[in-house]
Amino acid sequence: MLLCYIDESGTPEIPGNTSHYVLVGFSIPVNKWKEAEQNIQTIKMKYGINDKEIHTAWILRKYFEQSKIHNFELLSREQRVYEVNKHRKTELLKLQKTGGKQYTQTKKNYKETSDYIHLTYDERKGLILELAQMIESWDFARLFAECIDKVSYDPFRSYNTIAEQALEQITTRFEYYLLNYSKYTQSYQYGLLIHDNNETVAKKHTALMKTFHEKGTFWKNIPHIIETPLFVNSSLTNMVQISDLCAYSIRRYLENKESELFDLVFMRADRKNNKVVGIRHFPGSGCNCKICQAHK
Ligand SMILES: [Zn+2]
Repeated sequence: MLLCYIDESGTPEIPGNTSHYVLVGFSIPVNKWKEAEQNIQTIKMKYGINDKEIHTAWILRKYFEQSKIHNFELLSREQRVYEVNKHRKTELLKLQKTGGKQYTQTKKNYKETSDYIHLTYDERKGLILELAQMIESWDFARLFAECIDKVSYDPFRSYNTIAEQALEQITTRFEYYLLNYSKYTQSYQYGLLIHDNNETVAKKHTALMKTFHEKGTFWKNIPHIIETPLFVNSSLTNMVQISDLCAYSIRRYLENKESELFDLVFMRADRKNNKVVGIRHFPGSGCNCKICQAHK
């Protein structure tokens, strides 16, 4: 049996504040789960985030206060936390007087990054890089992704929404992989989708999966996939955080040509006869990116 963890990067709304929407499915066999979990936990402990979420986009931001603190790198982790919090409290008090959007946004930024302020920027980059290298080394894992270029996407030529199209693609590709994996292991293999919980998405995706079970996706019936997606709290589930890292790396490659993380996680893309079949850049016509090249 295979588990497939689903997460996204960017927003499915048009235009939204990103040019791409990326939906990822990251699959491992159930008998590899303990090993994978142990690998992640070892890296988390090294960086002092044992029971914290790996939220890649927040971890890789530059934290302005850190650059203001003299010799920040030389301080102990406890001192760093103390100094950053001191700066942040002062800043919030200052913004509170004027109130408004900037205060709310700053407060949110502080909250989302508070688990990582004991690490320097280089250490945070090192953490994500180590995780990406770990993913690359997992030859038992497979990565599926639908990457939609919202600028070139024509909603009038499509029969469903961006988010629906993405889920349909991931489901179809996971089903094909299950079919091949069953042949390879010479036993019928089932697959289960596991999703980051989000109330609006949960309802839609559950309904959509029920239709896929009844009628198949646009391309294929899905006899190997069971159940509607299980919804979990991503802050408590390491493997969903790994999907988040993959989705982030792919989107940053497509939008900013940042390839260091992408090249590592892309190694796990499902391939058949050396052609990448697990990841698609859509519409992608005339595009020369690494995904489109490998998809040909
Ligand atoms: Zn492309």
